[in-house]
Amino acid sequence: MTKIAFINSRYKNFNDATIHIEDRGFQFADSVYEVISFFNKNLIDLKLHFLRLRYSLNELDIQYNFTDEKLTKIFWKLIRFNSLKSGIIYLQITRGVQPRSHAYKHKIKPTVVIYTQKKTFNIPGNKFTGVNVITHEDLRWSRKDIKTVNLLPNILIENLAHKKNAYTAILIKNNKITEGNHSNIWIVKNNNIFTHPINIDILKGVTRTTLISIIKKCGFKLIEKNFTKKQLYNSDEIFLTSSTGLITPILKVDSKLINKGKIGNITIQLAILYFKLILK
Ligand code: PLP
Repeated sequence: MTKIAFINSRYKNFNDATIHIEDRGFQFADSVYEVISFFNKNLIDLKLHFLRLRYSLNELDIQYNFTDEKLTKIFWKLIRFNSLKSGIIYLQITRGVQPRSHAYKHKIKPTVVIYTQKKTFNIPGNKFTGVNVITHEDLRWSRKDIKTVNLLPNILIENLAHKKNAYTAILIKNNKITEGNHSNIWIVKNNNIFTHPINIDILKGVTRTTLISIIKKCGFKLIEKNFTKKQLYNSDEIFLTSSTGLITPILKVDSKLINKGKIGNITIQLAILYFKLILK
């Protein structure tokens, strides 16, 4: 079957969907993106993704005006064209094409690339699995609140984690845990749930936003406060959230087992509630 992608207002065969060599996304990572999961005929947390996309575009002064409806139509068309039941939508918007120069011209036309990938998800139930992670210094730039494709530090750190047979890395800045390499992080201690507060040191995850509403509804105490590596090691449960990983339990950090290497009860409860909500 031919794979179809969307590029600059046209649907094209995947292999023909190419960009210009002076595209600023290619040369400077002058570009933002979103990754949206879908299954069971649902585009998960779509409104929150659009809100964050507008925020990222705005912060970088990239002039791309879209309506939620227009992009949603493209997403569904791609899902249909590629005959997918579950997977992800990758959407990238670059500032556009101009002769190479650090300073950008105003009024250049953004490049828009959208395509799908097939994916199955880690869903609570018999096959719900946890992962091992390492910790690593947070090497990223200072505006982690913007979802840009400026991901080189994340890539180097992720490869290091894989070399150590870990799923991913947890990042540390000034002795405080910020987030996962491509996820937000949560710890549970004495039935209280902790996660890093929203500021420029982390990405405001859409899964994080949805989970906070669940946590508040079911009466757990949520504390949005940063925590240290020592607190991480000594927590009762740890899990990650992201659009592609949903809720991912952590069983080991560096060489420290968490909850004796078993998925914690609160993590399971939250994963079930989250999953029920997104299936609605
Ligand atoms: N933090 C970082 C650095 C990420 O890259 C991601 C997702 O890619 C997240 C957090 C989680 O965000 P979301 O829940 O919107 O996928």
